[in-house]
Amino acid sequence: MDRPEHLDRQERSDSPEHLDSPNSSGSLDSLDSPDRDYLDEFEAGQLAIEFDGESPEAVIEWALDRWGRRAGICTSFQAEGMVLLDMAWQIDPNIHVFTVDTGRLHQETYDFIDRVRDHYDIDIQVYFPDLLQVENMVGAHGMNLFYKSVESRFKCCNVRKVEPIRRALEGLDGWFTGLRRDQWASRANIRKIEIDHDHGGLAKISPLADWTEEEVWDYIELYDVPKHPLYEKGYTSIGCMPCTRVTKPGEDSRAGRWWWEKNAPKECGMHCPVETGGFEHEMEALVAEEAEK
Ligand code: SF4
Repeated sequence: MDRPEHLDRQERSDSPEHLDSPNSSGSLDSLDSPDRDYLDEFEAGQLAIEFDGESPEAVIEWALDRWGRRAGICTSFQAEGMVLLDMAWQIDPNIHVFTVDTGRLHQETYDFIDRVRDHYDIDIQVYFPDLLQVENMVGAHGMNLFYKSVESRFKCCNVRKVEPIRRALEGLDGWFTGLRRDQWASRANIRKIEIDHDHGGLAKISPLADWTEEEVWDYIELYDVPKHPLYEKGYTSIGCMPCTRVTKPGEDSRAGRWWWEKNAPKECGMHCPVETGGFEHEMEALVAEEAEK
């Protein structure tokens, strides 16, 4: 795989001047501004077409040039997220990176987050679920409610993942995701740039949309990108500890997520609103029902 010459690691790390766009210099405080730079439908459609055949680096560079730290990288530190983070860091070492600690992650994930922080010398903003919501949910439905039914699992994902992500996105104009079209049927139609109507209309940027799993791993090996240690143990998709298992040979890479469920989407709801509207409505109904109790 050719790394674009203009993205050479040393050259980029040593010369961040080119990143002095009006939006790229801020601390997290700069995210508090009420001003928004959202794409309209026409522009988003044009950009989706324009960028579809472009490299991930070109998409990232364009987005960072436009929004700087007002476009954040959302990652759970899986392979795709690490590729994204590495590419973005080459372009702007001052990138805004955030994640969600659901409270149920593997110890290996916590260790890895700190490793990544040290490796790139970056801040990683960690969002947590709302304490009261977790207390009410666990009090009413138990510690491991997700095993009881798909509905209970949606509830837990909503409280522990979806709600913190909503908060994380509130001050942003765009967010990067490591989604790929061939990960699961619900992701088959994602665009590299689209409007995320379910999070207020900011841009959702998925630079790796047309990459294969093989390309992701080639990049990681070629550029010595830090790898989540659970891949070595046979995991192919990594989420919360009680809801993720090692996959067997021949299984789909997301088969280990919520493995006990039959015919339910392998999604937590964080990305589904854009991709599978039916799932979103089902979950919202459940959440509303819960709020009324
Ligand atoms: S993956 Fe499991 S533990 Fe994590 S938020 Fe979803 S249901 Fe809860």
